[in-house]
Amino acid sequence: MTNICRLLEPIPPGGTIGILGGGQLGRMLALAAARLGLKTHVYSDEADAPAFQVCAVHTQAAYDDSNALRAFATSCDAITFEFENVPSATVALLARTKAANPNARALEVAQERFAEKTFVKELGIGTAEFARADTLEEARKAFGTIGAPSILKTRRMGYDGKGQAEVARIEDLEPALASLNGAPAILESFVEFAFEASVVAARGADGSFAAYDPPENLHANHILRRSTVPGRLNATQAKIACGIARTIAEALDYVGVLCVELFVANDGALLVNEIAPRVHNSGHWTLEACAVSQFEQHIRAVAGWPLGDPSRHADVVMENIIGEEARDWLALASRQGALHLYGKTEIRAGRKMGHMTWLSLKSGAQSVG
Ligand code: AMP
Repeated sequence: MTNICRLLEPIPPGGTIGILGGGQLGRMLALAAARLGLKTHVYSDEADAPAFQVCAVHTQAAYDDSNALRAFATSCDAITFEFENVPSATVALLARTKAANPNARALEVAQERFAEKTFVKELGIGTAEFARADTLEEARKAFGTIGAPSILKTRRMGYDGKGQAEVARIEDLEPALASLNGAPAILESFVEFAFEASVVAARGADGSFAAYDPPENLHANHILRRSTVPGRLNATQAKIACGIARTIAEALDYVGVLCVELFVANDGALLVNEIAPRVHNSGHWTLEACAVSQFEQHIRAVAGWPLGDPSRHADVVMENIIGEEARDWLALASRQGALHLYGKTEIRAGRKMGHMTWLSLKSGAQSVG
């Protein structure tokens, strides 16, 4: 790709970071930037994006509106994004005017499950077995190799379990494909994991790397319910998890925070499920349990600042507030713990409305109490 702007100097306080996407991640990025004296300009196609409430400037426009994008790029000193379904062409276009990170390649790899799993496998990192399954014929062939149980997933735009169907028998393939409305698909073996985990890490513009302690994650209805640190990962697995994130970040020449979602198999092996090229829900606990949160870390990286200290000073549990649970905000506010509400006006089933974090004394050698 030609004409890509690189960050030549750190953006000084007073500078503006452009954020594509205006959800809760953009909101928490904007708040972290403010702590460092940086302004944010949030760009979203939604009228009432939660991040609009906390940024210096916002633009509401479509992600393919080239005039609005150009004006946005001109007004910012560096650009980033908070969701991975932003078109990679949008990031490539912005990168001609201002440094945009993570780069368009990282976005392309993470946006397409087949490309993503192939990329991870080629780095020598484990994944579930997978094969392309765009047509019934391809899906049958894939099922012949992978076997039951397996999961059919859309290759693009899937998140929180959307665009997925379980396949127990070969007869399930046809309705499973039909449920994806003809979208290109991938068949994956169903991993009988012991538990799920993730690693949230950052790579700086200078190639430096910093990883947070990997949490254990519990999902309900395919949506993250709880992250716990420390979880059941042992020290060796935690080290391997951080190594996986580092290998991926370096191979992508990545700048910013990324999350690698992992299955921990019954034999202890770590398998990559997904790469999220952004700050991640399983890293929200870093706001209270670390001196530098994942949000500040991301802003530091994309602004060309040195990465901050990712070490954890407490044990921590983070739980999401989902859908109707947010109606009880007063009861939630009465509980001990740190409450975060995202400023979303409409409650919808399965919608992430906020989260709560509870700290306890850090277990192990570093405890001070
Ligand atoms: P995804 O949309 O790929 O992030 O999947 C959402 C959740 O579905 C994961 O966090 C797992 O709980 C479950 N899941 C996805 N893929 C698999 C798989 N191959 N085997 C077992 N569980 C899976």
